[in-house]
Amino acid sequence: KAAAFRSADRNEEALQEYFCYLWLVVQTFFSLSLYFFFFSLLALFPDNASSCKTLPTFSGERQVPSQLLDSADFECSLCMRLFYEPVTTPCGHTFCLKCLERCLDHNPNCPLCKENLSEYLATRAYNKTLLMEELLQRYFCDELAERQKVHEEEMKELSNLNQEVPIFVCTMAFPTIPCPLHVFEPRYRLMIRRSMETGTKQFGMCIADELKGFADHGCMLEVRDVKFFPDGRSVVDTIGIACFKVLSHGQRDGYHTAKIEYLEDKKVEGEELTELLKLHDSVYDQALGWFTSLKDDMKNQIISHFGQLPVKDSDPQGNPNGPAWCWWLLAVLPLENKAQLTILAMNALKDRLVAIRRVLIFVTRKRQESANLQCIS
Ligand SMILES: [Zn+2]
Ligand SMILES: [Zn+2]
Repeated sequence: KAAAFRSADRNEEALQEYFCYLWLVVQTFFSLSLYFFFFSLLALFPDNASSCKTLPTFSGERQVPSQLLDSADFECSLCMRLFYEPVTTPCGHTFCLKCLERCLDHNPNCPLCKENLSEYLATRAYNKTLLMEELLQRYFCDELAERQKVHEEEMKELSNLNQEVPIFVCTMAFPTIPCPLHVFEPRYRLMIRRSMETGTKQFGMCIADELKGFADHGCMLEVRDVKFFPDGRSVVDTIGIACFKVLSHGQRDGYHTAKIEYLEDKKVEGEELTELLKLHDSVYDQALGWFTSLKDDMKNQIISHFGQLPVKDSDPQGNPNGPAWCWWLLAVLPLENKAQLTILAMNALKDRLVAIRRVLIFVTRKRQESANLQCIS
């Protein structure tokens, strides 16, 4: 019995020894695991704390390792820059708003998957992708600030109407005279949009020139209203505000630009002024005579396009570009663009009045001749 007890004691001792050994193994295993765990954590968080981006949470600040964030993942596939004002198309692709608009100017398909976006274009519901904006603000605050700065600089550059004026090459325009435009070319869609976005609402209008691309003189136009068609075309209601001289020709994103200088009539005084006023009054009366002698349907057509003949100015030198009625006459008289341009480029009211008088005499004589011919036949 005693031998049996001894044998049982030995068995218990062996079992205890076995458990002690097992405990040691488990302890070592956990120590090693903890060691590796902390080691890997240290590797994840480098010494430089500033390289970590923080994510505020309800329980406090959560750190996101900087090497897990790559701003290249948040780049627009069109401009290859960080998304700016991101929008997402119905097909699920995200672009900067301005980049997408420029693509849709050319054709109504998604630049990536080519899905037709005509309906999206027609509604113009370019809602910002807020989640993307939030992500950029949280994780790429510095990069976004830099992107914003670049955008603001671009806007400032586009707003500078002395250095680089966008030029619409199309027709003759004159100060104070309305100039409705049908905008369908992609480059002019971009130009008009920019003039609205920058808030200048202005651009220059010049006629084409075979050698230089556009003429050396033109008229600044101010946008009064824009009506968009569902396909992106638009009707832009503008009015002439000032004549300018082109100092240098340029290009930007497909449209013409120019460095310009505004034209101003040379002011005269004393006897010269007395003579100028006399000339001004006599040419005005001549113009009024010509207009009232026109047939009713012709007169109505002119009125519907350009309005009534403006009243005579009490101070013909009051406006830097002279009296409005001169420009109205230039717009309605049957003159070729080249002749109109020559008169637009004049910077003395006297010269302009003399030129207009010559045209009035010419058209009156022409009409008289054709009336005589009709009588003979
Ligand atoms: Zn872009
Ligand atoms: Zn797409």
